[in-house]
Amino acid sequence: MLNTGERPGRGDYECTVCGEVITLNNPTDALPVCPRCHKTTYVKL
Ligand SMILES: [Zn+2]
Repeated sequence: MLNTGERPGRGDYECTVCGEVITLNNPTDALPVCPRCHKTTYVKL
C-alpha cells in the first residue's frame, strides 16, 4: 500500500477506494490526494 506524499517512481497507481488511476511521469513526483474521492491510499498497477 502506498500513501499520498510518497514518491514511488514512474508508473500507474490506483486509488484503493474509488479506482481512480494516477500516472506519475517523474521519479520525483509525489502521489497526490485522490482527485475523485480525496482519499490517500494507492496500489501500483
Ligand atoms: Zn479515489
